[in-house]
Amino acid sequence: MGLGDRRDQLWVDVPRTLQTVLAVKAVAMVGLLLILEWRFPYQDRWRMTWRHLVRRDLIFIAINGMTLALLSYGMVALAIDLSADSVGLLTGQPLWLQVVVGLVVFEALQYTLHRTMHQSRGPLTHFLWRTHAIHHLPQQLYVVMHAVFHPFNAVLVRIGTQLLPLWLLGYDPMAVFISGSIIAFHGTVSHLNLDMRMGWMNYLFIGPELHRYHHSASSHEAQNYGATLSIFDLCFGSFLYRPGVPPEHLGLSDRDGYPGQHDPLAAALFPFSLAPVRRSAADL
Ligand SMILES: [Zn+2]
Ligand SMILES: [Zn+2]
Repeated sequence: MGLGDRRDQLWVDVPRTLQTVLAVKAVAMVGLLLILEWRFPYQDRWRMTWRHLVRRDLIFIAINGMTLALLSYGMVALAIDLSADSVGLLTGQPLWLQVVVGLVVFEALQYTLHRTMHQSRGPLTHFLWRTHAIHHLPQQLYVVMHAVFHPFNAVLVRIGTQLLPLWLLGYDPMAVFISGSIIAFHGTVSHLNLDMRMGWMNYLFIGPELHRYHHSASSHEAQNYGATLSIFDLCFGSFLYRPGVPPEHLGLSDRDGYPGQHDPLAAALFPFSLAPVRRSAADL
């Protein structure tokens, strides 16, 4: 199949499928998960409340819904478009291999970027942390928390961990679509406030049991930087798994200098502030 044919196939088939998947995901899956969380919450104290829903969550959903509609969808389309033109190591390889390699490459880059945002020091990482810190403001954790982030965070992650490697490695459009859908689905599930136990699968995949430690206010518990796979946390000493033991507190250990949870304008401007803030209680 020539490059022109690949692009024609892509623009005719994939966006239509993508729209259907995204619509079903947004309405049916999140709705179902909200009902399950309401019926079987893992922690009552992390439940969604009307106050947080109206004053924080819906505002982020509206802002990021627009951002994702304009940027994320556009970027996925651009990524697929780029992949139709680019030829690299993975071009023409079996679909399953492209998806597996795609996930591992995404995870390696995502892990590096995410850990850098949290731990590195310097002017650039000061900015990176501030784009990411918005995701760590809430003191609860439930399915909608996946939407609470600064739009810059989403743009940086998508460019650095998805768009660039796809272009360089030359994935087929369908491999891009499948791995992108897995990553998006997984990001939503990892914030669930449901008492679901994954057992030994926690050593393979990052699920709610592991990601809730990443949202801990304690710097000792705030590990697990991976998004979908546990392998890099296991290899680089940042894996934390305590079956049945929830983090004591969620959010930031020291909120001085950070925007309030119900101040979306301050959250939007936060990356541009130069005032120093502490990332954890261990910071001086
Ligand atoms: Zn984080
Ligand atoms: Zn999270």
